Amino acid sequence: MYKSLVLILISALLNSSGFLFGKLAAPARTNNAVTELTQPQISPQYLSESIVFHGSSASAKLALTFDADMTPGMAAQMANPNITWYNAKLVDVLHQTQTPATLFLTGMWIETHPDIAKTLSNDPLFELGNHSYSHPSFSRPCFGLKPISENEKPAQITKTQVLLKSLTGKDNLYFRFPGGCYTKNDLALVKSFGLLPIQWNSEGPDSFNTDTNKIIANLKRYTHNGTIIVLHLDGEKNSPKTAEVVSAYIPWARSQGYEFVKLSDLLK
Ligand SMILES: [Zn+2]
Repeated sequence: MYKSLVLILISALLNSSGFLFGKLAAPARTNNAVTELTQPQISPQYLSESIVFHGSSASAKLALTFDADMTPGMAAQMANPNITWYNAKLVDVLHQTQTPATLFLTGMWIETHPDIAKTLSNDPLFELGNHSYSHPSFSRPCFGLKPISENEKPAQITKTQVLLKSLTGKDNLYFRFPGGCYTKNDLALVKSFGLLPIQWNSEGPDSFNTDTNKIIANLKRYTHNGTIIVLHLDGEKNSPKTAEVVSAYIPWARSQGYEFVKLSDLLK
C-alpha cells in the first residue's frame, strides 16, 4: 500500500515536471544560460539504454571513472586522523598527466570532504556522478554491503543529487550502483529520476588488492575502443594501489593510441 502510494506520488511529480516515468528525460532546463551550455549532450543511443557498460567501438577513447565510497562505518573510522578515504596521490597523477576522469561520489563522501569535493567539482579535468548516499547494496548479494529496503532506495539517489547540484550548480546525469549491484526495478527507478545508470567493462579490480602488476595487466587486457574503467578514489586500505596503477597504465594506453576522455565525451 505504502509502496504503491510512493510510486504514484513519484510518478505524478515526474509527469508534472515534464518527465516520463520509466524513461530518461533530458536534463532539467534552468534559466541560467551557462548551466544549460555546460550540460552534457548525450547521444540518444545511450539515453535509450537501461544501463551503459561501454562507449562506441568506433574511436580509440577510454573513460577512467573513480568511485568515492563512504559508509557510516568508514566515516566513523575517520576519527583516526590517519584515515582520510581520499587518494590525493591519485589526483596528483591525473593532474600531472592531464588525464580527464569522471568521479562518482557518494553523498556521505561529499559531506565528509566538503572542501575537497568543491575543489574537484571546479576542476575542469573532472566531471562528477552520483554513487548513492551511503553505499548500500541495492540487490543482494553485493560484496557484504549493507542491504536496504525498496522504500529507502529513492533517498539514496535524491540526497546525493541535491549535494551534487549544490557543488556544480547543475543537474547530474550519471548514477553508479554501489558494488555495481542492481535489479531490473532498480534500473527503472534510477531512470525515473532522469539519470543514466553507468556500469563498466574494465576493472582492476583495485579494491583490497595490493598486486599492482596484476591490476595493471588486467586493465591492459580489457583495453578496447570505448572501454569504461572503474577504479576507486578512497585509497588507503580499501584501494591501496590505485595511484601506482594509474601512473603506469595511463602512459601505456596513450602509447597504444588511446585517448582518455570524460564519460560525457565518450557518450556524446
Ligand atoms: Zn563503490
